This record gives sequence, structure tokens and C-alpha cells, in this order.
Amino acid sequence: MPNEKPKFYLTTPIYYTNGLPHIGHTYTTVIADAIRRYKRMRGYEVVMTTGTDEHGVNVERAAQKAGIPESEYVARMAVAWKALWDELGIPADEFIRTTDIRHVRTVQWLFKLCKENGYVYKGNYTGQYCIYDNAFVTDAKPGDNCPDCGRPTETVTEENYYFKLSAFQKPLLDFYKKNPHFIQPETRKNEIISFVEGGLKDLSITRTTVRWGIPVPGEEPHVFYVWFDALTAYLSAVGGPDYEKRGFWPCDLHLVGKDIIRFHSVYWPAFLMAAMLPVPKQVWAHGWFLMDASKMSKSKGNVVLPRPIANMLGMDAMRYFLMREVVFGQDGNFSYDALVTRYNSDLANGLGNLASRTAAMIEKNFGGQIPKPGPRLPQDDALAKVASEAIGEALDRFEKFEFARSLETIWAAITAADKYLTSEQPWAMGDSEADTQRKATVLWTTTELLRVVTVLAHPVLPDSTAKVWTLLGQPGRISAVELDGLRWGQLVARVQLGKAQALFPRVDKQEAIERIESMANEELNPTQPPAQAAAPAPAATAGGAAAAPAPEKIGIEDFTKVEMRVGQIKTAERIVGADKLLKLTVDIGTEIRQICAGIAQFYEPEKLIGRKVAVVVNLAPRKLRGVESNGMIVAASVGPEGRPVLAGFPDEDVEIGARLK
Ligand SMILES: [Zn+2]
Repeated sequence: MPNEKPKFYLTTPIYYTNGLPHIGHTYTTVIADAIRRYKRMRGYEVVMTTGTDEHGVNVERAAQKAGIPESEYVARMAVAWKALWDELGIPADEFIRTTDIRHVRTVQWLFKLCKENGYVYKGNYTGQYCIYDNAFVTDAKPGDNCPDCGRPTETVTEENYYFKLSAFQKPLLDFYKKNPHFIQPETRKNEIISFVEGGLKDLSITRTTVRWGIPVPGEEPHVFYVWFDALTAYLSAVGGPDYEKRGFWPCDLHLVGKDIIRFHSVYWPAFLMAAMLPVPKQVWAHGWFLMDASKMSKSKGNVVLPRPIANMLGMDAMRYFLMREVVFGQDGNFSYDALVTRYNSDLANGLGNLASRTAAMIEKNFGGQIPKPGPRLPQDDALAKVASEAIGEALDRFEKFEFARSLETIWAAITAADKYLTSEQPWAMGDSEADTQRKATVLWTTTELLRVVTVLAHPVLPDSTAKVWTLLGQPGRISAVELDGLRWGQLVARVQLGKAQALFPRVDKQEAIERIESMANEELNPTQPPAQAAAPAPAATAGGAAAAPAPEKIGIEDFTKVEMRVGQIKTAERIVGADKLLKLTVDIGTEIRQICAGIAQFYEPEKLIGRKVAVVVNLAPRKLRGVESNGMIVAASVGPEGRPVLAGFPDEDVEIGARLK
């Protein structure tokens, strides 16, 4: 086919669905998304895969605990994971679930190829087994207790299929030698090479004691066990047995956490070699974000969630922080303090401020038209040189996945432009012809630098750079700009600036952190009040020192999704153990609903009976402190502690069930 774009395929891990995504998962997915955007701007056709690993004993147990079938449990989890990635603006091109039929077929096909080529045999697996949890306990010795329930384990032998991993020691070592960039970074590569040099044991790849898994055809009750199932998802996502049709295999890049590098760089290529399929080109292991120097985990209670950060500071701020703060490949510390500090210094005072002040000066002096530059002075050429060099350097560093250094280069150019404006002082110039011409040159030069850094930062800050692009009146979508064609001097004069939009409003650090933490707390402990009527007041501070980022405007079609009706409170009572909550029954015209509202500290239940209130009737039902709440009562949030004041209809006797518009 003529002019076919080169293809690039990258993946995040297929995340295990025993919980919801935290900042660690978000980190990998953000990096993948930034690489995807970058590659597209370099002319590639890109597919990015993420997904959910839905099999195994832990899922069996979680489903049992929830009292629902496994299939329903994993379907709920998959929906939640996919929805979060969509909401955060980092959606997969291919979202693969290990319960998808296309994946089931691929695993069975891969197994068949490995077996036909003589790399699979039946053997006995002996290990310590917990009869209460119905699971083998990995690494336990006879006499050890089960780490989950504390009861003694028993030595059990079961029939398994084994993969002849031992046959791949030499082929793998040869492969690493021939493909020196297969494992990155270098430290991980050395680790893996010594592991393989130490000898490889055959690998058990099926179980008969696990029920929730992909069946081995004709060999029931054997099901595939963990890695043979999960790793194969990368291939299932781009065609499985028909991978040649789509042309995205072998994979260009597997992004993984450092804890699973061995499975990706030893087991996975060995499975593919055994099946005589092409092996991926690169596995890149990144470090972890640590909280107080320890690994984040739900059980330690130090887990950081992405949604509250995105709600408070915007997704771009989180992306910037994750990619700027830590050298890719190493561990880093996560702190809200550092996050908000970077937000204010680099985004609000850096890119945001440069864009808005430059646009304001063009508006004031040139009626909002980018001016035609006059004769250049050495300082103009010096800034042009900074920007020109930033193009080459930032791209070179991004290409090597040195994201922090790439951003450093871009932000050094922004700082140079700030200094340039401070010393040129276009705002102090008069209206003489010479002054106007000089002003034109200074503002054109600054705007051109802004255009260049905006394009360079786009893969990392997709939303805000698109806004700057519009502000600068530039044609087309910024994502369609070709990085390889980016040069200094392409800014066209006499172009009218576009609409200004809020970029990165400054925030008060303490207040921002408190709000993020309270949103996170609510997400982690959804049964706790307050929630419904008494949501915390949005930050509105005197003196203008801090303001929450302005939320995006919504269209009327979004507003009409919220169905609000007049309801009348029929009964109201306190809930034992929840001093902020009242349990109400509300007549909404078509039915009587039970709704919980966080107003108990401010309203006497008996005084509420008969009162007409505004009710959001199409909110999904949820449980607050174990009590079902089906709808939401609308209230104003007043004063610093967010005292709820019920919205009502004092002027007229409105009909119950009337819709609010
Ligand atoms: Zn047990």
C-alpha cells in the first residue's frame, strides 16, 4: 500500500482486578498515553492496549465475598477500570479482558503451538495447599501456615501441564545479546541476564485446583494458570491467531512495573519462541511511586487515587507531575506537597502565566492580532536560539524516554521567555512608531516561543496545550502538528488570537491538599457521610489568593442528563452510628424513594416532614453507612464548614414531581 504509516504497538500491563486503579497504575497508563501521542505526532499509526486480568483464585474469592458470580464480578471491575481510563483521558485503543472470547481462543491456540512443537508435557506439581482457601501457597514449606487464614497447609500433589522453560536458557541469552535494547533500563537487563544464567526451571502452566480460568481444551478440569493466560492478552488484543492481518505484532513496547519484568522478559519471549511466533522488541520496567519511602498498598492505607487529583488540579497537572518529578525507570516519592508546588510553579506561574500575559499584551496593543515583527536585536536571536535548540533536545530526550529531562528542556525555554519579557518590558513602551515596532518584535518572538513549547509539551499536557493552541489562533488540531516539521519562525503574523480559557489557576497549597485528601477519603470509604446534601464547599477564598480551577463549561445536553424533580419529605429519622445522616422517604410524584442526606446536624427530622425539596432522581443508588440511598436532596453549602441549606420553593405551592429545568 502506498504511503502507509509505520506502525507502533505498545501496552501497559493487563491489570489484575482485585481492586481499583491507584496512582501506580495511572502512572504506567499515563506514560503509555504520552508515548502514543508523541508517536502519532511523529507519523506513526499507534495502538495502545491495556486491560484487565480477570482469572484466578483471588477473583473467585472476591466474587464469593460479594455474593455474585465471578463473571458478574469481573464485568463490574472491567467496566470500572475502563470508565476511569476514559474519564482521565487515557483510553485504550484496545481494552482486552482475559475473559474475552478472542483472548480465550488465543491462549488455547498458543498452548496448542507450544505442545505441537514439543515444549509442553504433563507432570506432577507438589506444593503446600490450603484446603480452606482452595489454593496452593507459593513458596511455602511443609509445616508452614497459610498466610491468608493462618491455618496449617497440607502437602498436595496435582497433575499439571509444564512448559519446558529450561530449554530456553541459551536461546534467551542469545536473544538478549542480539537485541541489547530488549530489556530497559540497563540495571534491569543485568538482573535478568544473571537470573537466566543461573538456570531456568520448567514452569507449571495449568491447575486442576483452580476453577475460574481458561480451560485447556480436552483436558478439563485443567485451566491455564496466571502468566500463560495474562501475558498472551497482548497478542489477543491485536488479532491473536490472525495477528498478521493487522500488522501490529511483534509488539514494539511493553511498559511494566519493575516487579513483573521477569515474566515479561523471560517467560513471555520463551512462550513465543516455543510457538515460533515473533518476540516483542522491548520491555521497559519503570520504578514505583513510594509514599513515605514504602510501596503503596491498600492494606497500608497509603494509596493515592488519581480521580481526586484530576478533579482538583486537572489531569494535565497529574500527568506533568508524574513525568517530570521522577527519572523514568527509577523509584520516586509521591507527595501532595510536591505535586501542588510543581503545579503552582511550573504550570500556573510558568506555562499558564506566559500564555495569558502574552495574549493580554497582544490584545491590548495590537487588537488581538499577532503582530508582524520588525528588525531583530541580538536578544531576540538569542531567544530564537533557545527555542530552536529546545526542539531538537526535547525530542531527542523524549525518544529515549527521558521524560523528566525532556520537560526540563521545554521549561527552561519558558523561563528564558519570562526573563526576556522582564528585560524587554514591552508593557513600558510607548506608542511611537519605533516603540510599536519594537513591541511587535518582542511579542511576536515570545508568541513564537510559546507556539514551539506548546507543540513540544502536547504529548504530556494534551488538554491545556490544545487550549493554548486555540488561544494563539493556530489552525487545525495541535495533535495533528508533525513534530518532524516543527521549526522556529513558522508563526504567521496578522492571525487573530482565539478564545482565552482558564489554564492553570493558582491554588492555595494547604487548601488544595485538604480537598484532594477529603475527596480521596470519600472514594476509599464510600459508606461514610457526609456526601449527599452536605458536600464540602468549593474553595472560595477572600483575597483572590486561591481559586479552584474553573470547571469546564457543559452544554445543555449535559445538564439535561440530570433529572431533578420536586419531592415531598414523608418521613425522616436519624441513623444509629451516623451522626450526620438522616434517612428520608420522599414522594417524587411517581414513587416514594428512600434517600439519605448529610443534614442531621442542622435539621430536626420531625420539622422536615411535609417539606418540599429539590431531588436528583436519576442518581445511581448507593449505600451510605449501610443504608440504601436512591437519589439526592439538593442543598446549598454555606460558610466555611459547608453547612447544608435545603433548596426549596417558598413562593408558590409547586406540584410534587414537577421537573426542575
Ligand atoms: Zn488458608
